[in-house]
Amino acid sequence: MTKRRAPATVPPIASLDDRRRPAAPRRLARSQGFVEEVFRLIRADLMSLRIPPDTRISIDSLAREIGVSQTPIREALSMLEAMGLVTKRHFVGYCSAPQLNRKQIDELYEVRLLVEPYAARCAAERMGDDDLRALQQLARSMQPGASRTSYDRFADQDSELHNRIALGSGNALIQDSLARLHSHLHIFRLRFHSEVTTEAYGEHATLVDALIRRDAAAAEAAMREHIQKSYERMVPYAKG
Ligand SMILES: [Zn+2]
Repeated sequence: MTKRRAPATVPPIASLDDRRRPAAPRRLARSQGFVEEVFRLIRADLMSLRIPPDTRISIDSLAREIGVSQTPIREALSMLEAMGLVTKRHFVGYCSAPQLNRKQIDELYEVRLLVEPYAARCAAERMGDDDLRALQQLARSMQPGASRTSYDRFADQDSELHNRIALGSGNALIQDSLARLHSHLHIFRLRFHSEVTTEAYGEHATLVDALIRRDAAAAEAAMREHIQKSYERMVPYAKG
C-alpha cells in the first residue's frame, strides 16, 4: 500500500538567496526542498510556455531530463494541479492547463478592476509602516527579465505584491477572493515577453510610491492604470 501523500501546498516565495543564485542547471542534487525545486523548474517551463498550454506532460521524460525519479515529479505535478496550472485527465495523465479564453480573461480583469483599485485605496490608509517598507523592498527587488526562470519568478513576486496590498486593505474577504483567482499565473501564461515584466516594474513603482505617501486616491488610480495596462498587454494574445 502506498503512503498517503500530504496535501499539496504552494511553497512560499523564493528567499533572497534563491533570487541571487544564477540560473540553475536542470539537473538537481537531492537536498531539502527538493520537491519544491522540481516544482519550480516545471512551473517555469509552464509559465514561459516551454511546455505549451493544453499539452500532455510526460512524467518519464521530465524525470529523465531533470535527472530525478518519478516520485518528486508526481508530487510537483500534484502541487501544480492544486494551482490550476496542470490538470489530470483519465487515460491521458497530466496535461498543462489550457490558456484562458477571451471571455475568461475579460471576466478575470473585470473582477480585478472592481476590487484591486479599492484594495489599494484602503491599503494606503490602513497598511502598517513596516509592511509598506517591505512592499517597497519587494517591488524594487523584482528585476524584469526574459529568461524562463526570471519570468516565472517575476510572476510569483507580482502575485506576492498584489497579495500584500490586498492584505493591507484590512479586509480578509478581499484578500481571500483575489487569492482564489490565481490570476497572475493565468495572466503571465498568455505571453512570454520581457515587455510584460519591464512595464509592470515601472507601474509598480508608481503604485508603491502612492502607497508610501499614503495618497489613497493616487494609489487607487495607479492600481487601476496598472491593471488596465496589463489587460492591454495581454489580451491580444488571448485565443477564442
Ligand atoms: Zn502587478
